[in-house]
Amino acid sequence: MKTNDRIYLSSPHMGGTEQHYVQEAFDTNWISPVGPNIDGFEEAIADYTGCGYAAALSSGTAAIHLALVLLGVGSGDEVICSTFTFSASVNPIVYQGATPVLVDSESHTWNMCPETLEAAIKDRLQQGRKPKAIVLVHLYGMPSKMDEIMKVAEQYDIPVIEDAAESLGSTYKGKALGTFGNMGIYSFNGNKIITTSGGGALVSKEKTLIDKARFLATQAREPAPHYQHSDIGYNYRMSNIVAGIGRGQMEVLSGHVDKRRAIYGAYRSAFGNLPGIHFLDEPEGCFSNRWLSTLLIDPSTSTSGVDREHVRESLEKENIEARPLWKPMHLQPVFENCPYYGDGTSERLFEQGICLPSGSNMSDKQMDRVLREISALLNLE
Ligand SMILES: *Cc1c(COP(=O)(O)O)cnc(C)c1O
Repeated sequence: MKTNDRIYLSSPHMGGTEQHYVQEAFDTNWISPVGPNIDGFEEAIADYTGCGYAAALSSGTAAIHLALVLLGVGSGDEVICSTFTFSASVNPIVYQGATPVLVDSESHTWNMCPETLEAAIKDRLQQGRKPKAIVLVHLYGMPSKMDEIMKVAEQYDIPVIEDAAESLGSTYKGKALGTFGNMGIYSFNGNKIITTSGGGALVSKEKTLIDKARFLATQAREPAPHYQHSDIGYNYRMSNIVAGIGRGQMEVLSGHVDKRRAIYGAYRSAFGNLPGIHFLDEPEGCFSNRWLSTLLIDPSTSTSGVDREHVRESLEKENIEARPLWKPMHLQPVFENCPYYGDGTSERLFEQGICLPSGSNMSDKQMDRVLREISALLNLE
């Protein structure tokens, strides 16, 4: 009897038509980094998000890297980035020989604080170092304060790259995340809301940027029979096989968003009114895909004084995967010398925050098991 099968945080959830597109690639021998699935996948992304143009790439990290290359970020430059994120948002800045300048979150969206962003820009300007770009992350599907952030970015004339790796399907005032900045990126890694097993996309309303991204992603090969090169290129293109999975996944994206939001709703209604438990509701105008359901546990006011680690470890014993929120980048040894601007908001989120199983393929039975275990931990039974 498998009553204790592992429940994952977020696992791949195929819709059914993926294999059809993959089979088509085999049948027509498009086993390469060009082909109809890539075109179809890029079109589907553009249609769904209204981003304009999309380039399918080997990963979300590659997409961030190309965005920085396209903005001319290079050695000695500074690039502002959310400190509360996964390391993949920051690493490409260092690939380019630039220095990440890390900016803290605010508590309404957990994303980059517009006031701290402005303070950071002013301070860098005072030192004669104008930031070359802003990598803005929308964490766990929650939109950042876009009006405020874009206002600051425009005032100081600094281009924005939206890291929407976790927020495909989320909108701000009805507009898809990833479409506000100069460029946006999505990820199709195995743990994301849709997956191609691994992959990413760079999007922009400027066709020339996306054309250039495709060019750089295919070794910067100029159209000559002998392959002429005037730029340093990369091998970052998505394969036509993988893009077939992506085409199928785009057909079920809306359903995945609905399911993940329902999962969040179930946690929210079960535990939302308990002392010491805090859920992040959507501020006005924000629509989150609820990629991961997250909550904060304040041990000083929570029932029986439980803290996040106690809940996480206890769930692990029951074969249920849970995880702390992202550890801020300014606390990571590899980025400890980077300039940081903040008031400790992301540190508190990291200390108190937990991500709960959120996969769209969780069964009702599995969901009940998770709810039951957490209820027991919080002394609800
Ligand atoms: C997953 C993720 C990435 C990287 O995407 P990959 O496709 O895994 O390279 C970047 N930023 C954030 C916030 C992510 O969660």
